[in-house]
Amino acid sequence: MVKIGDAPEGFEGDGFFLTNLGKVIGMARANSLWPLPFATSCCGIEFMATMGTNYDLARFGSERLSFSPRQADLLMVMGTISKKMGPVLKQVYDQMAEPKWVLSVGACACSGGIFDTYSVLQGIDKVIPVDVYVPGCPPRPEQIIEGLMKIQDLARNESLRRRNTDDYKKMLESYQIETL
Ligand code: SF4
Repeated sequence: MVKIGDAPEGFEGDGFFLTNLGKVIGMARANSLWPLPFATSCCGIEFMATMGTNYDLARFGSERLSFSPRQADLLMVMGTISKKMGPVLKQVYDQMAEPKWVLSVGACACSGGIFDTYSVLQGIDKVIPVDVYVPGCPPRPEQIIEGLMKIQDLARNESLRRRNTDDYKKMLESYQIETL
């Protein structure tokens, strides 16, 4: 059975439905997130399972993966990120257009995991802002899906003005990310 996305809050009557533009845009964004899978190691294999028929990310409107940052709005970082790779990850994030979200999948991406070594970045939030963290080594596909659903909640409820606020700009500046 095909499940249709829930309608946003509003008023309905015979032959009409009334809501506001922000809620409609939030609904559209939440149900059509285009992920860019930045997968460097084992957690990436769990992501492959998440895309398979058993778990089927298409149910959430996110089956369209993008390997071009300019055509993605959800950066999914899965795997160990070395310090050398930090600037590359940041460049990928930079090239994504607003609005964009970041899902950090697995212990390595969230905190360096078991690799407390000189060469491994101890969490991707050292170089880019993260919206949702998924714990586990590796996390199961159900956990990755839960993370995606949390991103959907953020996208659905985000104010259309949030990205223009001073707080948001300050947050990006703290990562030395240029704001347009
Ligand atoms: S969190 Fe565990 S499973 Fe995921 S990339 Fe790191 S070592 Fe591999």
